[in-house]
Amino acid sequence: MLAAVLEEQSRPLVVRELPDPEPGPGQIALTVRACGVCRTDLHLRDAEIEATKLPVVLGHQIVGVSDDGERLGVPWLGYTCGRCKFCRSGRENLCLEARFTGRDIDGGFAQRAVADRRYCFALPDGLSDEQVAPLLCGGLIGYRALTMTGDAERVGLYGFGSAAHMICQLAVHEGRRVFAFTRPGDADTQRFARSLGAEWAGSSLEAPPEPLDAAIIFAAAGPLVVQALRVLDRGGTVVCAGIHMSEIPTFSYDDLWQERSIRSVANLTRADAEAMLREAPQVPIRTTVSVYPLATAEQALADLRAGAFDGSAVVVP
Ligand SMILES: [Zn+2]
Ligand SMILES: [Zn+2]
Repeated sequence: MLAAVLEEQSRPLVVRELPDPEPGPGQIALTVRACGVCRTDLHLRDAEIEATKLPVVLGHQIVGVSDDGERLGVPWLGYTCGRCKFCRSGRENLCLEARFTGRDIDGGFAQRAVADRRYCFALPDGLSDEQVAPLLCGGLIGYRALTMTGDAERVGLYGFGSAAHMICQLAVHEGRRVFAFTRPGDADTQRFARSLGAEWAGSSLEAPPEPLDAAIIFAAAGPLVVQALRVLDRGGTVVCAGIHMSEIPTFSYDDLWQERSIRSVANLTRADAEAMLREAPQVPIRTTVSVYPLATAEQALADLRAGAFDGSAVVVP
């Protein structure tokens, strides 16, 4: 099969032939139809997070078809132990022995992939392979992050990329009010956010017209944590949804006072995935997708780094 392989961090992906992966016990073999591109793939490529296995096939939003014709989705969470205190308390996303697709297990920037059947999901009909792929990480992490805001009515989204463009639609469907924050001067993305139901869109340096009940940070810039904290109403929460962030600057306790809080969201549970995939067609969440042939996976990462497309990117073999 052909695969786009990360052989060494901070180096371009190499497209080359690999032997077809053989399913181990409990695993299923899939023909890949599409695989979403996530900022985590870029963090691994750019050595902003540690690679646990090299070479590795990146990609953890896999839409594939089993040899008996079943369409399945493979997310970031690829294995959990089922025994640790986190697994036993409904928090398998924090499992001490968790293994992740496209980092610890070869992922979906390839023509074939294998996955543990217990971590694969049936996908809603009515969404094409390319359209459904971004739900499998951006959608799921965004869903978990939105859940962490409780019943917040006014929700700020910092970094309006793949996850935010889906979660904006879900939040509006749930009757929340969305405020979208982009890089200063990015009028195109602000327009894109308004087209998806955000009632206000502006620069991350601006204050929204009223205080917010929660903010979700999808961008990897630590200073946004402090900026978001300062636009929260009393009791508001900042949810950091990325796997990596630059340093968070120091800030005054006054910014946190009045029961404001900051928390992170890590990975996903299978329960999150089932709930999200059930809700997505009811909204319905429509993804805006740029499609890249497998041979151009490195370009997809470069375009993500540059913010060159709206919504999500998907690699197709
Ligand atoms: Zn991801
Ligand atoms: Zn565990």
